[in-house]
Amino acid sequence: MAYSKVVIVGGGFGGLTVAKALKGTKLDVLLIDKKNHHLFQPLLYEVATAAISPGEIAMPIREILRKSENTTVIMGDVVSVDKSQKQLTLGNGDKIRYDYLVLAIGATHSYFGNDQWEQFAPGLKTINDAIKIREQVLISFEKAERLDSITEAAKFLNFVVIGGGPTGVEMAGAIAEIAHKTMFKNFRRIKPEKSKIYLIEAGPRILPVYPERLSLKAQKDLENMGVKVLTGTKVTNVSSEGVYVEGGFYESKNIIWAAGNQASPLLKTLDIPLDRQGRALVEKDLSIAEHPEIFIIGDAACFMTEDGKSLPGIAPTAIQQGKYLAHIIRKNTPKEERPPFKYFDKGYMATIGKARAVGVIGKFQMSGFFAWLAWCFIHIVYLIGFRNRLSVMIEWFYCLITGQRGVRLIYHSMGKDILKASDD
Ligand SMILES: Cc1cc2nc3c(=O)[nH]c(=O)nc-3n(C[C@H](O)[C@H](O)[C@H](O)COP(=O)(O)OP(=O)(O)OC[C@H]3O[C@@H](n4cnc5c(N)ncnc54)[C@H](O)[C@@H]3O)c2cc1C
Repeated sequence: MAYSKVVIVGGGFGGLTVAKALKGTKLDVLLIDKKNHHLFQPLLYEVATAAISPGEIAMPIREILRKSENTTVIMGDVVSVDKSQKQLTLGNGDKIRYDYLVLAIGATHSYFGNDQWEQFAPGLKTINDAIKIREQVLISFEKAERLDSITEAAKFLNFVVIGGGPTGVEMAGAIAEIAHKTMFKNFRRIKPEKSKIYLIEAGPRILPVYPERLSLKAQKDLENMGVKVLTGTKVTNVSSEGVYVEGGFYESKNIIWAAGNQASPLLKTLDIPLDRQGRALVEKDLSIAEHPEIFIIGDAACFMTEDGKSLPGIAPTAIQQGKYLAHIIRKNTPKEERPPFKYFDKGYMATIGKARAVGVIGKFQMSGFFAWLAWCFIHIVYLIGFRNRLSVMIEWFYCLITGQRGVRLIYHSMGKDILKASDD
């Protein structure tokens, strides 16, 4: 059978890699995404902490694929997949047929069954999330400046980040910098440098997948920046007033969730085995059982390696899987002839503030300023678009030299709160 129509759902790292690799083939490729842009999530925390602008880490998908003449891009929310009819349904009811289907739909936050916490503790996955967090942080300083009571103002100057993985560590470090370095000359009544920043982690150490030495180094760096790191601390409730943990309460109007991930509910419509995070358990060729024409990659997939571990939800996993898959689709390789997917571990890194990082590349562990330089280099290389690369480099250099964060603007609906009589 000749396959001709390839439908890719998701224009993130995985989906975009497949689409680019199918450029110039005779295949009729359709990429569907509910957003019009590809987002470079690794730098989202920099938008959330006012270091760079949203436009510097996002680019329209149709612009990226403008030279792929065999690829059409549409904006749409895929709500279900009918495996037997080989068609999917969009939110508006449109049906789309496929011969090959690639689901590269990423993941979303998990509040571990406590979805009501989301309203008080937003997570960081999209541009909207980042802008919301940025405005929440900035508005908090504004509100605190207007208050006469020091006790009331303190609520707005306390920050709690929940989750000690790379995102939590990066957020906590960046907030410490805003509060302690960027803002301290800007206010007259409050002292932003006296802000309290808590990083709460349920496990015994932050950055749990890193070697213990680097976890401890990261913790020490954060503490030197004024972050209070609370490990072995389980969150029991989150409210508009703060965070409850076993045996304690941290009062704060600024809570950020960086603790868990779950895959998209769309995968449930496939009626296939999912892991605890809701990710699809895929076969060695990234297809699903009995359907060699359906592939799931990136954060949406759980691929078990030979040593019984699942691959990490990071960009290199999605990119490598996208390249592997494009090869199979290009050649129309029958399932029994497909070589198993092999992951090449390139390592991982996390930054702590503007000039420190920790990372592991192969057997090599690094930390400090040179690790941060390596982090900068890697992120610039992977960022899409020359203009974005240039402007992010300029912003980083500016921030490194001056400690300033140039995008401290409040312009969304949250800004209206400050004009209201109530300061809640
Ligand atoms: C804050 C943050 C920091 C991170 N830092 C790093 C880092 O430093 N290094 C690293 O390697 N990784 C990092 N990651 C992880 C990395 O971004 C992900 O592993 C990677 O984006 C996964 O790629 P993907 O293609 O599977 O999904 P994504 O890149 O998330 O793309 C999924 C796409 O699918 C679309 N979509 C979803 N559902 C639907 C639907 N139903 N219909 C239509 N479209 C849909 C979405 O709009 C999105 O564009 C970070 C992630 C976050 C959130």
